Amino acid sequence: MADEAKRSKAEVLKEESRQLRGPLARELTVLDQHFSGEAESLLKFHGCYQQGNRDERKAKNPDGTPKAKEYRVMVRTRVPGGKVTAKQFLGHLDLCEKYANGTLKITTRQGFQFHGVLKNDLKATIAAINANLLTTLAACGDVNRNVITCPAPFKNNGVRAQMQALAYHLAEHLKPRSTAYHEIWLTDDSGLTENLAEFQPVDEPLYGKAYLPRKFKVAIALPDDNCVDIFANDLGLLAVVEDDRIVGFNVMVGGGMGRTPSAEKTFAAVAQPLAYISPEQVDLVAEAIIKVQRDFGNREDRKVARLKYTIANLGLEAFKAKVEEYYGQPLAPPRPIPILKAEDHMGWHEQGDGNLFVGINISGGRIKDDGDLRIKSFFRAVLGKYGMETRLTCMQAVILCDIPPSEKPVIEQMMRDHGIVPAEELTPVRRFAISCTAFPTCGLAVAESERVLPDVITRLEAELTRLGLERELFAVHITGCPNGCGRPYTPDVGIVGKTLGKYTLFVGGNSIGSRLAFIYKDLVPYEELIPSLVPLLEFFKSDRLPGESFGDFCARQGAEALQASASPAVAAAG
Ligand code: SF4
Repeated sequence: MADEAKRSKAEVLKEESRQLRGPLARELTVLDQHFSGEAESLLKFHGCYQQGNRDERKAKNPDGTPKAKEYRVMVRTRVPGGKVTAKQFLGHLDLCEKYANGTLKITTRQGFQFHGVLKNDLKATIAAINANLLTTLAACGDVNRNVITCPAPFKNNGVRAQMQALAYHLAEHLKPRSTAYHEIWLTDDSGLTENLAEFQPVDEPLYGKAYLPRKFKVAIALPDDNCVDIFANDLGLLAVVEDDRIVGFNVMVGGGMGRTPSAEKTFAAVAQPLAYISPEQVDLVAEAIIKVQRDFGNREDRKVARLKYTIANLGLEAFKAKVEEYYGQPLAPPRPIPILKAEDHMGWHEQGDGNLFVGINISGGRIKDDGDLRIKSFFRAVLGKYGMETRLTCMQAVILCDIPPSEKPVIEQMMRDHGIVPAEELTPVRRFAISCTAFPTCGLAVAESERVLPDVITRLEAELTRLGLERELFAVHITGCPNGCGRPYTPDVGIVGKTLGKYTLFVGGNSIGSRLAFIYKDLVPYEELIPSLVPLLEFFKSDRLPGESFGDFCARQGAEALQASASPAVAAAG
């Protein structure tokens, strides 16, 4: 339990926030340029981050004086399982043009993000998202966030539908009960101040007075399709399927990517199996795990407050005993079920009811029109014409569902007309690449990520083609800082921004995300990233075992052998 006297400022702020209200409503009524620090922290629980434009940080006025910082807000929509109707998708496209920077970002957790919203437009933006039956509540902040699951709309059995329903149910079940969100964003301005003055706390049975010590993430996956990267989540539910139905879940706990290189006490971790439970036990076991984290998570130092640190401090067995105590009875041991594959669900597939679905790869998840590549216009056209349901994937892509086979050529032509290359014609390395947002909007970015992703992949593709390795499945994840929003510590290749223009290169993970990668090289200048990988690719080509993946090869060789292979002269001299 946290020492009351040593609670961090963030903890005091949450506890004194009148259930996530703080000064938000008052500051919204003041036509001031930006939110105060206190409001900024609480905004996260409402799905928003106040940000600046990093490109303009050093901008000057005509007289040479520094320009005043311009504040904008990032707004994130929580979409359980990434399930979005055509109306909701089109509504988000309208909003990105009306209130944001004209683009829409698909996150690595199946959500939408707007960038560049003005404070004065924030209330209208959030109200419009809710009018479309989606929400930003708990998309960020120290609570359970979006619940992710496999988005593929297979209908030949009920498994995917069960997972989708569970994702929606858990997202609702685990959300905060505070009425602040409704009061601040979904009521008209008249009487808002009085409402706040009349504040009556509601029961927050899961979160208590100070919510969680840090964010909490839940994923639901299948052993033969870990497309959500279950290992990177605080709580993973791995569905156990018998006779085409889910009979239970292996519960996995303690995954998390964020780390701070300068703080040795921080680390990335993959989730570990804890127990096997029936579908009926899911709600109460999830609650018990969250409550243990609420009561035993670190509330003094946010750097080490995620569930992975609580488990490391207690030990997995003691953690399980605590969960059993909160749950009220012992839990069965996990079943020995390996996770084997991760699909990207791109390209055309039969969905099991006579119709097709198609997955459309989107670099960095950024929906925009840019020259001949008019992704935004494509979605406007295809959703306007067909009105089909869509799914957002954890690889920042979009799936169009329920397509009659007769319409496949029409949609293929629409894709080509808008400059979209069908996934079947893309290399696996491009299909499995993801990036975080980083510059220009993320305040924590120290290096480029989303904006350099296409160039990184194009350069890598050229080398792979030269070596005859272009059909190899490589997962490459790039982030603009070590926080790990793009899950860079578990793929075959992780590229993590260390400082402006320089990166730490990780190798040795895998495409199912079950193994931590290790540092191959640090402080690699951007221009040297791909040249640094080339000797490894050559080594891989000459020394791999039959069927061995690049990540497995790197893990088998280890950092020393890889480094020696990259500088044979140095190794020989040593
Ligand atoms: Fe920002 Fe870092 Fe997250 Fe990228 S990984 S979005 S740079 S916090």
